[in-house]
Amino acid sequence: MKPGLMPIEAALATMLADAQCLVDVETLPLYQASNRILAEDLQALVDVPPADNSAMDGYALRLADLDQPVISISQRIAAGQAPSPLEEGTCARIFTGAETPAGAELVVMQEETEAVNGGIRILGDHQDGAFIRRAGQDVKQGTQVLTKGTRLSARHMGVLASMGIAQVKVYRPLKVAVISTGSELVNPGDSLAAGQIYNSNRYQMAGLLADLNMQFVDLGIVEDSAEATLKALQQASEQADVVVTSGGVSVGEEDYVKACVEALGELKVWKLAIKPGKPLAYGRIGDTPFFGLPGNPASVLVTFMVIARPYLLTLQGARHVDSNLQQAKLTNPPAKPSVRQEYLRARITGYKDGVMQVEAMTNQNSGVLSTAMHGDGLAIVPIGACGTDAEQLTFMPF
Ligand code: AMP
Ligand code: MG
Repeated sequence: MKPGLMPIEAALATMLADAQCLVDVETLPLYQASNRILAEDLQALVDVPPADNSAMDGYALRLADLDQPVISISQRIAAGQAPSPLEEGTCARIFTGAETPAGAELVVMQEETEAVNGGIRILGDHQDGAFIRRAGQDVKQGTQVLTKGTRLSARHMGVLASMGIAQVKVYRPLKVAVISTGSELVNPGDSLAAGQIYNSNRYQMAGLLADLNMQFVDLGIVEDSAEATLKALQQASEQADVVVTSGGVSVGEEDYVKACVEALGELKVWKLAIKPGKPLAYGRIGDTPFFGLPGNPASVLVTFMVIARPYLLTLQGARHVDSNLQQAKLTNPPAKPSVRQEYLRARITGYKDGVMQVEAMTNQNSGVLSTAMHGDGLAIVPIGACGTDAEQLTFMPF
């Protein structure tokens, strides 16, 4: 590691050690809880399924009766009906999802039976317990099903519903104020004058925050001046739980963010061993956490995914903030080693022997965002690795 550069893990560890949940808890109907973070531990109060039931349309019976030439049908049980105990020497006509009657030891599917005078006859061989879904086979009553801090997906919601849970305690969305610094910036919809460019970061940040179910508090574009920057930072810190800026954190004369945050609170500036995205500012404005991302849109994307995302999720109450990292092979590794850990925008080209193959996009310039749009994620090249040494690596999907 080059002296003066801070390892990414060290920066992340420092920030996560500071981070605590900043948002209140609210109770929501389960169907509105998609992507919210659970604020309670949940135990199963019932078995799922609640009773033994049939996995097939067929006949429920005892093992001892399988070989009888004729088995009479003593009851008919459709899904939703309560069965009576199975009479000795008989079977029950049963349908998928219907509760099996007490005494039944297996279900034979209707395709393996034959109608005979006075009932049915069983064809073929059958085993104890066949086609009976046991009570509690999905979730056992009393087990801890989910812990506080879990982000609720559609799959979680389905399981919670199967346990009869109608409402859940979740964290309110984190309010994130976003400031796009730069006198050259114009929002799409306005016309470009000489020297101006469109503001990408505002829109990219809106999308990244929406993906995390966070509330985007838009402070707009702030020109490069101490006065405007101070005012915007102050306002942002009053309106949101956390303030994120883009640009203005390098060492240029037009970079005002650092000095202004220092005047309003506290600031650390790290030269991170990350490429793209070296300068990163972290601190607070009053009591509001502050995060200063670089200006280049590709650097914003990378530093957001690698550092801001786990940090913001923690502020929003999440406990599991890993980024779904996957092992992959980089088919066009860099020829030269880097003193910073590189996050190459890359696309998945396929799978070989079960290993994901990824290809780095040709243009990795931090001012170029379109290669990220055409890519699938970031191929992480460790410090010092190149050539064949950089082929086996970790991939962080977008
Ligand atoms: P800075 O760190 O402010 O010097 O910005 C670095 C580079 O990123 C400059 O070329 C800026 O024009 C560009 N940049 C900064 N903010 C944005 C933005 N919101 N949208 C697009 N480009 C930006
Ligand atoms: Mg700037």
